Amino acid sequence: MVGRKIGDHAVVLGASMAGLLAARLLADAYLEVTVVERDVLTGVPGPRRAVPQGPHIHGLLAKGQQALEELFPGFTKELAANGVPVGDFGTSLSWYFKGRMIKKTETGLVCISAGRPRLEEEIRERVRALSNVRFLDEADIVGLIASDDRQRITGVRIQRHAEGSDEEVLPADLVVDASGRASRTPRWLIELGYPEVPEERVKIDLTYTTADFATLPFDPIGDGVGLVCVANPAQPRGGTLARIPGRYQLSLYGFLGDHAPTDRAGFLAYAKSLPVPEIYRAVEHAEMITEPVAMKFPADVRHHYERMDRLPAGLLVVGDAACIFNPIYAQGMTVAAIGALVLRKHLELGQPPKPRAFFKDLAAVIDAPWDMAAGGDLGFPGVQGKRTLKVRMGNSYIPMLQSAAARDPRLSDAFLRAAGLVDPPQALMRPGVITRVLRQARAPRQPASS
Ligand SMILES: Cc1cc2nc3c(=O)[nH]c(=O)nc-3n(C[C@H](O)[C@H](O)[C@H](O)COP(=O)(O)OP(=O)(O)OC[C@H]3O[C@@H](n4cnc5c(N)ncnc54)[C@H](O)[C@@H]3O)c2cc1C
Repeated sequence: MVGRKIGDHAVVLGASMAGLLAARLLADAYLEVTVVERDVLTGVPGPRRAVPQGPHIHGLLAKGQQALEELFPGFTKELAANGVPVGDFGTSLSWYFKGRMIKKTETGLVCISAGRPRLEEEIRERVRALSNVRFLDEADIVGLIASDDRQRITGVRIQRHAEGSDEEVLPADLVVDASGRASRTPRWLIELGYPEVPEERVKIDLTYTTADFATLPFDPIGDGVGLVCVANPAQPRGGTLARIPGRYQLSLYGFLGDHAPTDRAGFLAYAKSLPVPEIYRAVEHAEMITEPVAMKFPADVRHHYERMDRLPAGLLVVGDAACIFNPIYAQGMTVAAIGALVLRKHLELGQPPKPRAFFKDLAAVIDAPWDMAAGGDLGFPGVQGKRTLKVRMGNSYIPMLQSAAARDPRLSDAFLRAAGLVDPPQALMRPGVITRVLRQARAPRQPASS
């Protein structure tokens, strides 16, 4: 890590996953780090008000677990010792594509099933323990402060919620925007005279609906972690049943306006419509301990900061504020963690990070998950967007691979490594993998078994 500090004060906008991970690394490089957050951060068990995705299942991909372990050594063991389900991605989860389970296999990739609020809290408490990090919660970030020539961001304007508070200025050598999908950086840049940030959008009109259950009278998970039924163009709805500390969660989702109802009967009927009957059987007579809660997810959105010709110094953007992925691929937290590793690389240069170089490197790590998510979404006929040759090839080949993985555990392993962002997607195009896929495609079809 960085020995000499490269600045006095860094300010992070937003104390969610991306903001916390950025703060963890900035603490090595700046004398002081302030994390500004509009929500209350202490004494609030469970989902936070300003993170509406909190009640929904949050899978942490294998690469995300590896990155968290790098940033907080011992993290996984500590969580497991405190009752968080931990398992192998290939054996503790049952993965279903078009209703068929891919072969279970040891992958060596670790899955942590903490539930979103718990995972965030575990990270927050580790960041809070850093002596030079200060949390300023119940405060809104209302704008940026720039130098007279607008070439450099020199701080932020904040407004505390406490009655009678006046707007304040926090001077900063570096501002990191981790304020999620509500990020106002594109607007602030325009106000400062910069061009519009190029944006890519794939509308999917997805809705997530989630309920928690105390126990499962019929339990298809056992001491594993969960069961994943992935949507496909022929059936654009899916669901995940997961074991998290002290409870089970079922998240159901549908594309293009199809959504699970939020009343118990409607929610259960939707679960019953999935091609994996174990999901419905598990919850049919289970005690529901939270009302089903729904959240709309209109579009995948990517802000191409790397395409900006001009950017002010002293301002970076990370996490969902830079790119929002369809949650069914469970990439957001992992990409936030990979983005934090990119930030570390730039801080380790021993000088204030250069925005254009940072955004170029960030874009390079976003490319693969973006292609997987936005490209995968374009496999659904009603989703509008340009279907390039690469997209069309991917959407023909990946279902073949998933189908072949129902019989070949080596293909399950290859698939989970790529979907877990541990291997690049190109790894699925290696001759050895393609040969196995084609061999299975030609073999007579047999019923799949575990
Ligand atoms: C339904 C759903 C399911 C998901 N499932 C998964 C999953 O399975 N796996 C996965 O990896 N990811 C999943 N995600 C994505 C994941 O939640 C995000 O990628 C992840 O939280 C990283 O987000 P972030 O920290 O960038 O932003 P956020 O989590 O959105 O946090 C932004 C923070 O900034 C604060 N903030 C915003 N504006 C201001 C302001 N003006 N002033 C002060 N504070 C402000 C907010 O209060 C909040 O705390 C899911 C998302 C959704 C919607």
